[in-house]
Amino acid sequence: MPVAGISELIYMNGSSQGRLWQLFILTNRRYKWFEKWIFEMHYNITVNAGNMSKRNLLIASTSTVFEKPYLAYLTEELEQFYNDVDNIIFFPFARPGGISYDDYTALVSSFFSSLDKKVTGIHESDNMPETVNECDGIFAGGGNTFVLLNALYRYNLMDPLRKRVLAGIPYLGTSAGSNILGVSIQTTNDMPVVYPPSFAALAVVPFNMNPHYTDPDPDSKHMGETRETRIKEFLVFNDVPVAGLREGSYFIVSGNNMRLGGNHSVRIFERSKEPYEINPGSDVSFLLNEKE
Ligand code: ASP
Repeated sequence: MPVAGISELIYMNGSSQGRLWQLFILTNRRYKWFEKWIFEMHYNITVNAGNMSKRNLLIASTSTVFEKPYLAYLTEELEQFYNDVDNIIFFPFARPGGISYDDYTALVSSFFSSLDKKVTGIHESDNMPETVNECDGIFAGGGNTFVLLNALYRYNLMDPLRKRVLAGIPYLGTSAGSNILGVSIQTTNDMPVVYPPSFAALAVVPFNMNPHYTDPDPDSKHMGETRETRIKEFLVFNDVPVAGLREGSYFIVSGNNMRLGGNHSVRIFERSKEPYEINPGSDVSFLLNEKE
């Protein structure tokens, strides 16, 4: 499990007194044991806690596939997925390429208007945690995962978001928006352009994502690390399975069941195991089982 710690706890509580404590702890490294203790306590209470049987998630590798408009490849799934939702709350925080929240929300809105759904950007709310508490459906868009997670901690949205997701409202994530559903964001492809209080993510599934997963090209002359090498490095330090989701692949989670959608297989990486492939359309519910 990721070493998060008191910063996570404090941002979830969001008090200014908490922030002072955070400074104190972070500047006094000999209190590391205390941080660990708090994290373990917090981990049991918050991260592990919760009934997962109502989860309703669409975890997509990407928003856009080659030569198709934004979200178009998911249209049929989304019609069904958001069947009972009229107003979708959109999280634009990952803002790919620095697009403004308003422009990003407008893009999403124009896709969903074709499905007769209204889209409202969470940034327009005067009380974001309250808006999350009351909403019926969520979409977190892609972009930079560090920027997205940082915003969730700073606006005190981690806790309400997790509770809402566990309550069963439909949550669609694309790419960065999918990464934050895992245990941590340590297997994103993004650069850490900002420093979130923790890498710990929502942990509503017990594995990590690597979206836009690409296979090594046997004819390539490029000598940098492959995606597979980087994921194996992660597994040296973390016993958390990683799903390499190729473009156009997605998981549909309904309670304790999960299916692989799209046309590609998914590559699963686990500690001390050879990576393996699972065919499109398969039942992949076993990935939802918590490790003992
Ligand atoms: N930058 C990606 C996105 O489109 C996330 C990732 O590659 O990890 O959201």
